[in-house]
Amino acid sequence: MEKTILVTGGAGYIGSHTCVELLESGYQVVVIDNLSNSSAEALERVFTISGKKPIFIEGDVRNRALLDKIFVDFPIDAVIHFAGLKAVGESCQMPLAYYDNNINSTLTLCQAMEQAGVKNLVFSSSATVYGDPETLPLTEDMPLSATNPYGRSKLIIEEMLRDLPEADAITQSATPWAVILLRYFNPVGAHKTGLIGEDPKDIPNNLMPFIAQVAVKRREYLSIYGDDYDTIDGTGVRDYIHVVDLAKGHVCAVENLLGSSPITGVDAINLGSGDGVSVLQMVSTFAEINQIPVPYQIAPRRSGDIAACYANACKAKKLLNWQTQLSVTDMVKDTWHWQSKNPMGYTV
Ligand code: NAD
Ligand code: UDP
Repeated sequence: MEKTILVTGGAGYIGSHTCVELLESGYQVVVIDNLSNSSAEALERVFTISGKKPIFIEGDVRNRALLDKIFVDFPIDAVIHFAGLKAVGESCQMPLAYYDNNINSTLTLCQAMEQAGVKNLVFSSSATVYGDPETLPLTEDMPLSATNPYGRSKLIIEEMLRDLPEADAITQSATPWAVILLRYFNPVGAHKTGLIGEDPKDIPNNLMPFIAQVAVKRREYLSIYGDDYDTIDGTGVRDYIHVVDLAKGHVCAVENLLGSSPITGVDAINLGSGDGVSVLQMVSTFAEINQIPVPYQIAPRRSGDIAACYANACKAKKLLNWQTQLSVTDMVKDTWHWQSKNPMGYTV
């Protein structure tokens, strides 16, 4: 029988790509999203791509009654929890909104899951939980810290989730929690059809959507935040991961949880490529591959930024049999395909 996955935040950037991969892998998908940072149009397009419709419930994950009803109405086997606020700068200005949305949504979700006896969870964590790392590449057992409220909300949630199997051990629960914390590095790119992609509501904070909006002439130039880091060319180095690879990583995580030898308790797994790419390398690859100019200016360092960050992705390969397949060329090509086809995102 088809397994059913509840996807919170499924209309968002990573969620919509994950819905496609889940549907194409034969899962039934139920999405709950309050559309605070997304459009229902994304789910229409998920249908166009996959030929299958996710069931969409518009609502907030902090609404316990709504969640309880979803677990009664649908035979949920596992949950992927994407819903949350994600802008670092904004989190410094409105920390309470971030703690409320990110922590309370996870708390409410876990309470509803426990009541329903559904205790398989994949949680969207982030490489930001490694803080400013002393050594690279990053392995999952390295020290964790937070430098802003967004990162702190992810750390607090990771800690909170770690308490759940501890309680199972004490109570000798017959259905113990199995939780995979996926620590994403830098998701970029779009589906190869150009139908779904990243659609920031305001001025993009992240590098790739900013490059894409400069290329499509929505913005005049890119500010490169610092060219005096101790890196290959002085600009910041990150581990970029194609969103479709990332989405496939979620399918692998669900397969682990629902398979014959699932992880036990809580396990953190990096999802990254393992390669570091500098800002200047990304800008020049985008311009060269797409044959489109990307004007830029060097600006001061952005506060809170670190010089370099990239993953050791061996654990994902070992436990989930997952590794990235798409290259930086695919990332810039697919981003431009999406942006040039949808210059104003989902708004027409
Ligand atoms: P996104 O904003 O595109 O998607 C999040 C979705 O959740 C949106 O559709 C939004 O409307 C919805 N949402 C937010 N709060 C909600 C609530 N309380 N109830 C119901 N729906 C709610 O973001 P994304 O880039 O797809 O990120 C998904 C997850 O991955 C987030 O938890 C984010 O913190 C995490 N993450 C993202 C990145 C990244 O660079 N994009 C990196 C690391 C981790
Ligand atoms: N960056 C930049 N200009 C921008 C946005 C980002 O130079 O407009 C740089 C940033 O300083 C970092 C890299 O691009 O070195 C990735 O930044 P992003 O915000 O995309 O991800 P994160 O900081 O979360 O790794």
